[in-house]
Amino acid sequence: MRLRLLAVLAIGLASSLTAQSQLVVKTFPNGYRDDNTAYFYQDHRSLLSLYFFTTDKPVIMKDAKLLIDLPEGLGIAGYGFLNSNNKYYDMKKNVQPAGRVSWELALENRPVSSKFAPTAWTVYSFYHVYVSLEPQPGFALKESSLQWRVAGGAFPEAAGTIPLKFLKAPGPAKKPKSFTVSTDIGYCSEILDLKDIDDWLAIAGNCGVTGIINDGLPNKYAPGINERNRQRIRAAKSFILIDKTALPYILDSRLPAALYPPEDKYYQLNLALKRARKPAEMLANSILWCPTLLATPDTPVFNLLLERIREQYRLGFTIFGHDYEKDIYTSCFCEYCLKSFAGYAGLAPAELPTRPLNLITKYPLEWYKFRAWQTGGIFNALHTALAGECPGIKFGIDASLSYPGMYTPGLGYGAI
Ligand SMILES: [Zn+2]
Repeated sequence: MRLRLLAVLAIGLASSLTAQSQLVVKTFPNGYRDDNTAYFYQDHRSLLSLYFFTTDKPVIMKDAKLLIDLPEGLGIAGYGFLNSNNKYYDMKKNVQPAGRVSWELALENRPVSSKFAPTAWTVYSFYHVYVSLEPQPGFALKESSLQWRVAGGAFPEAAGTIPLKFLKAPGPAKKPKSFTVSTDIGYCSEILDLKDIDDWLAIAGNCGVTGIINDGLPNKYAPGINERNRQRIRAAKSFILIDKTALPYILDSRLPAALYPPEDKYYQLNLALKRARKPAEMLANSILWCPTLLATPDTPVFNLLLERIREQYRLGFTIFGHDYEKDIYTSCFCEYCLKSFAGYAGLAPAELPTRPLNLITKYPLEWYKFRAWQTGGIFNALHTALAGECPGIKFGIDASLSYPGMYTPGLGYGAI
């Protein structure tokens, strides 16, 4: 009996050991180069990003530390976490022999989820750490290395070495007339201070950038920077700033529910032929409103879009952008959409399967092309409606008509 119990215990221990999740950490900017070298500025702050994954079950980060070993003269100005409002400057510094300094950074205690797999290229994870590296004045090293280690938690340590090369930041140069980029400083919680932003904008300007597509500088996840400072920064820079708030306000349903149109027909009809009336009821990353009605001038949802854009235009924005990432296989299957789809695909409405899941599994590519064409139609209709009254108005989107990691009922993960 005792032996049997021991055997059971041994088997249990072995399986728990083999099942232990491994923390996998990908680092940037070295991670996407064949030679694994990270190039950092010799005379400006640079950002080191670490993306945390797990091989199996969620890894709990309680008591975990990020240990970074750097050459003397290259310090850490601060660090922060993806989409976190918490402030973290809990750093310890320890000067080592041989011109090295080790840093210990406390990590945020929330699990590293298993939702996204640690593949060679992805940065899709929900646990990012951003570390702002700052060279001291006169820092002159051309090459060195950085060692990092994540340890202290109830998981096997993860560690790595990054070869470093240092370059001077670009100085003022001849600029193109117009060079607009879509960029962020990083979806970081707290490392951004005014110096980070000033440095970043100065380098962008020296590289010839004349316009920045952004939610509004600095990043919305930098709560340490108040709105007065944001306005001061916007006013002081000569960049064209592109509004990325007006379109999501309607297309991502950020407007107050009290302003929603009352009629059922304006809301998406989902895979289960149910109307979602608020974002919480939406499947995957679908759109709340029927996209066919959004692309149709003079419908209430189209007019909501126009109103919001007009408001921002009056504030001085002439360019409107949107990061339009929708899972188009979850909606909308209303009569307007089916009619529009049949017309686009050259099918008789009677040919279409009545069950949405059957429709999209029978015509997956046609449905994708139809939604892509229709997404263009929404922006074309907006431009046509506003071009006369809003001189110079422009629209731009980066569209992804699927959403990685989203579960689509009936289709599982990865609808396409
Ligand atoms: Zn519809």
